[in-house]
Amino acid sequence: MKIANWSKTLKNNFLFQAVADKLKQFKSKYPEKEIINMGIGDVSLPLADEVIKACTFAANEMGKSSSFRGYSPNGGYDFLKQKIKDEYKNLGILVNTDEIFISDGAKSDMSNILDIFSSGNTCLIPDPVYPVYLDTSIMEGMKIEFANAVEQNNFLPEPDFNKKVDIIYVCSPNNPTGAAYTKNQMKKWIDYANSCDAVILYDAAYEAFIEDNDLCRSIFEIPESKTCAIEFKSFSKSAGFTGMRCGYSIVPNDLQRENASLNHLWSRRHATKFNGVPYIIQRAAEASLSDEGKLECQKSIKYYKQNAKLISEVLNKLSIKFFGGLNSPYIWLKCPNNMTSWEFFDYLLQDLNIVGTPGSGFGKNGENYFRLSCFASREKTQEACNRFLKLL
Ligand code: PLP
Repeated sequence: MKIANWSKTLKNNFLFQAVADKLKQFKSKYPEKEIINMGIGDVSLPLADEVIKACTFAANEMGKSSSFRGYSPNGGYDFLKQKIKDEYKNLGILVNTDEIFISDGAKSDMSNILDIFSSGNTCLIPDPVYPVYLDTSIMEGMKIEFANAVEQNNFLPEPDFNKKVDIIYVCSPNNPTGAAYTKNQMKKWIDYANSCDAVILYDAAYEAFIEDNDLCRSIFEIPESKTCAIEFKSFSKSAGFTGMRCGYSIVPNDLQRENASLNHLWSRRHATKFNGVPYIIQRAAEASLSDEGKLECQKSIKYYKQNAKLISEVLNKLSIKFFGGLNSPYIWLKCPNNMTSWEFFDYLLQDLNIVGTPGSGFGKNGENYFRLSCFASREKTQEACNRFLKLL
């Protein structure tokens, strides 16, 4: 018996585990300290009333033989797909329901999708970015290239037409930098992918935070993307579903490689390895897309954005350079006094009892940067801002 090859190449600690371990150590040493966690990207507001109503209704349906449901249809229930289709229609995009695949979230989708590609493909991964892309690409035996996201290109790398890659990860708005591509900028990536038969994996988990109309809300706003892109969306941040688990992917029927339909391959993969998202959760997701549900969810997004504004104001007062926080729930700051990311992490934890995420955990270009999340409660965010002002 031999264990997987990736066990020898993958770094030991997943970023958030390393942060959690440091936090645990600190707590056991100083149990009396009140720590504010602005590190992990988890939401803090409760679910919308409409969502709870839908869950309760669906749970009652499950208790009656006349309305009980077992396995979900492959790819998800039509009632939810129809709602998602309508959302795309509002953006002027035509998506067929057979192009929509309901899942338990974008994290699983972004890693599972690699099942439809051969190992040994070259993946182009932004640096810095959500660490899951790199780790899962390594697990699947892909070759890795990085696209540098640095201050000089506003953290938005452009394609290099002289280089050939096979799979391109795009995260927009980006975790951790908060940078988001405009439609014009995305068009360049689409032209590049179509020119060399690459496939773009477009992670739009933070799309709900976009307010600038020039920015790309869906890669399918650019029609040429239908032959080169797969889009991933999540209810985690748009509707507070981090603990509910629901997301979806869109694989266009026009997306073909080696005479095979990637839509069919993905459908086949779903049918083989996944038995679907619970009925109750799919009803809950549907409710988050109702008129009432959307209003409630937008209120929560506004709340988080107000947190971002408070943090931004404090950083401006302290003359700390930062990015993001406008079309994204993350603030990406340059560590003061040339501190490394982990030095700044230790400093914040020891002196302010605030936890953030070291930028270096998102890639080598993240060194000397630091991510603050705006998902904490207003009270905690305000308290964190006061501490920043007092001590920095
Ligand atoms: N994609 C990005 C860029 C994320 O930052 C996250 C979570 O933090 C996810 C996907 C995970 O989404 P989900 O909760 O739907 O699995």
